[in-house]
Amino acid sequence: MMRPLMSQKKTHEIACPLCGREQEVELWDSVDVGEDPELRDRLLSGLINRVECAGCKKWFRIDKPLVYHDREQDIFIHLEPLAGGRTLKQAEKGFQEVLKELENLMPEDVAPLEIHLVVEWSELIERIFLLEEGLDARLVEHIKYMMFQQNPDKIPAEKKGLLFDAQDSTDDQLCFVVQDRATKKLEAVLNFARADYEALVNVFDSDDQMALLEEQFPGPYLNGRLRYLRDMAEQ
Ligand SMILES: [Zn+2]
Repeated sequence: MMRPLMSQKKTHEIACPLCGREQEVELWDSVDVGEDPELRDRLLSGLINRVECAGCKKWFRIDKPLVYHDREQDIFIHLEPLAGGRTLKQAEKGFQEVLKELENLMPEDVAPLEIHLVVEWSELIERIFLLEEGLDARLVEHIKYMMFQQNPDKIPAEKKGLLFDAQDSTDDQLCFVVQDRATKKLEAVLNFARADYEALVNVFDSDDQMALLEEQFPGPYLNGRLRYLRDMAEQ
């Protein structure tokens, strides 16, 4: 019954993106880090679904869907990469289908799981850290939205992304790194006071305010940068 929640590996036929050689590789469809904590570290080190080509010996990552589950911390994230020209809409649709499948598998008396959707590898890593820190993903995207709004010259949203950086965050500051969208290079660091985050948690604690936040980010894919760009385009 609970099979989709367990770690699963399958053999896939792939072609090396560098030399074109076709080969069979074992790739993860889902990782359950509650079952195997070492998998979490391997994933955060970028070693999951990375393979060495049998021909040219170069390493590359395969962009494929991956389910991340941590039953201890109640973290459930679905990575649906926008590989091969897939649009965000298609990814969201694929995600809804996965949700439906999971719902059918879950016993009726179990509360529905909160499953997160991400579309990039860096977002998956970010979301794992963010949820482990007990932060609210919607609120963090709202904060990014404000950062783009307040720093249009320093972080132009068409070119730069923001990623929550748990490792450099402190008790006082939440740390965000600016990432160039084209080169993927990390360029600068922005801090957001944890006290201000807590203040926002209190603001959004009421149902009315929460509804506003959900209106800004209806989901399932939450992205402050894209929301900001959309709002700017509509103005
Ligand atoms: Zn190769």
